[in-house]
Amino acid sequence: MTFKELTLIEPILKALDEKGYAIPTPIQQEAILPALRNRDILGLAQTGTGKTAAFALPIIQQLYLDKSHGKRREIKALILTPTRELAIQIDDSLREYTTYTGIRHTVIYGGVKQQAQVSALKNGVDILVATPGRLLDLINQRYVSLHAIRHFVLDEADRMLDMGFIHDIKRLLPLLPREKQTLFFSATMPSSITSLSRSILHDPVRVEVDPTSSVVDTIEQYIYFVEKPEKKDLLIDLLKKDKCKSVLVFSRTKHGADKIAQSLSKVGIGSEAIHGNKSQNARQRALTNFKSHETRVLIATDIAARGIDIDQLDMVINYDLPDVAETYVHRIGRTGRAGNSGTALTFCAPDERSMLKDIQKLTGRVLPVAN
Ligand code: AMP
Repeated sequence: MTFKELTLIEPILKALDEKGYAIPTPIQQEAILPALRNRDILGLAQTGTGKTAAFALPIIQQLYLDKSHGKRREIKALILTPTRELAIQIDDSLREYTTYTGIRHTVIYGGVKQQAQVSALKNGVDILVATPGRLLDLINQRYVSLHAIRHFVLDEADRMLDMGFIHDIKRLLPLLPREKQTLFFSATMPSSITSLSRSILHDPVRVEVDPTSSVVDTIEQYIYFVEKPEKKDLLIDLLKKDKCKSVLVFSRTKHGADKIAQSLSKVGIGSEAIHGNKSQNARQRALTNFKSHETRVLIATDIAARGIDIDQLDMVINYDLPDVAETYVHRIGRTGRAGNSGTALTFCAPDERSMLKDIQKLTGRVLPVAN
């Protein structure tokens, strides 16, 4: 099945093509058609299955086809998600999927000053991604109104409840218009989630994918247990042994990224580092060189790597483990695109073991150790 067969329209197909998505994932195959018909969805799927596109694409398309969308900039779709990291990732995906549609979106979450978020809201948005606490805050201050919402996504409902957001959600629900489409996603279905879903969904289409249909399954993944000081030599060894054309290396810190680039250059391996301390020009140049295969190795921090799409990326190396498990899935999701095979190697130092556990819990599998 193709994205076109799911009746997605040209401006969206073009963006998906540029992202290198060749075929829809199982959750996308099941959810997109009914969601485009404005049906409610009860989706059982975890991160890594491609669920973000499964709920985002139908919303974007419906807003785009609704001719009145450009006339008034009011929030017409709300995506509620439990963590700041997820919120940012969803907003990043929206940026890519909406490229050719003129649909506007923004993201709000707690833990940072509200000013920049408020001014983004004042510019007018069609889709709002939010975490519950900050959303309620900004509603109370009258920066956000939910009266025009037509599409509502509750993402990671089980985690919302685990994190104690049930009261926030119960306060938010009555603020939404009655007439709307609701897309409800949860990785698990304990009875508390079943009853919450029953109370907010109308005749939903149930879509379920087992964790093994995850995008990350097309990617070969291995772990190297190493002491921190050994990581540098391991990386050099691997890059010398493996003839991979393009390798993306993730470093947790900017300083770390620079240090890795220096060690590689000492042994004659060409690489460039991109991170927030580099100018936009320098970053762009590094990216262009990497895409044209002039530089073989690109070292990036998670923030700098956001939104970069590289065709034919053979390998991702996690020099450091990410702080948030979902980030692992997004990092390695950059390889193995468009039906290409991909490899993801992860260096795990003793103090990173607990992070590895979180990743294995999230992806539902134990990563094999490389030998
Ligand atoms: P999600 O489950 O939405 O967090 O998506 C997990 C990863 O899969 C992300 O890195 C997406 O960019 C990627 N992805 C989503 N849909 C597809 C697709 N149809 N083909 C290839 N990659 C995809």
